[in-house]
Amino acid sequence: MNQRIIAIDGPAGSGKSTVARLVANQLGWSFLDTGAMYRAVTAEVLRRGIDVHDDVAVASLASSVVIVTTPRVSVDGRDVGDELRTETVNVAVSIVAANAAVRRAMVARQREIAAAQPLGTVVEGRDIATVVFPHATLKVFLTASLEERATRRDEEGTESIERRDRADSLRRASPLRQADDAVVLDTTGRDVQEVVNEIVQCLKSQDSA
Ligand code: C5P
Repeated sequence: MNQRIIAIDGPAGSGKSTVARLVANQLGWSFLDTGAMYRAVTAEVLRRGIDVHDDVAVASLASSVVIVTTPRVSVDGRDVGDELRTETVNVAVSIVAANAAVRRAMVARQREIAAAQPLGTVVEGRDIATVVFPHATLKVFLTASLEERATRRDEEGTESIERRDRADSLRRASPLRQADDAVVLDTTGRDVQEVVNEIVQCLKSQDSA
């Protein structure tokens, strides 16, 4: 099957979700927010009172629950949409996401979701171009100044964003890293639609090459 993927990676607040969703809309493709999956597992770990540092228990939960991301995010049919961006989840998610067995379960699910889409999928996260879809049709790495990223995520705060980026970049399992063959776009001060158009244009020029 000719599976088409646009992989968009980058740090917190770089504009990945907004841009990825709009690119998907413009192309008529599906959109997958993989951060929401790590957040959903984390919310469920916390709800069940599991210690986030208990790697075995957290991994066992991650591989046994059914996570659905659209139209709403749910875990085993329970809607968790309102729990994903709480401060406790913001603090715990990087710990859960550093668990290699959790990542294996999420990556398998991400590949399964994308394989089921008829046209293509715009997938955003931290390891999409490097690990999940290393043969993606187009790879994009979004950046933005810390100041602007904090403004976009103003409910979270600069310190929390910096801490999460540090943990995501320094972890052993699939750290946040720019793929060598990614197009790098700095979104600081840029209009969202302009960034979206640039990505769609990159895809078109690749298609016609
Ligand atoms: O994208 P978002 O900020 O919602 O991601 C939340 C967290 O999920 C990140 O800080 C990171 O720890 C984890 N994550 C990840 N790999 C991905 C997507 C998100 O480790 N592909």
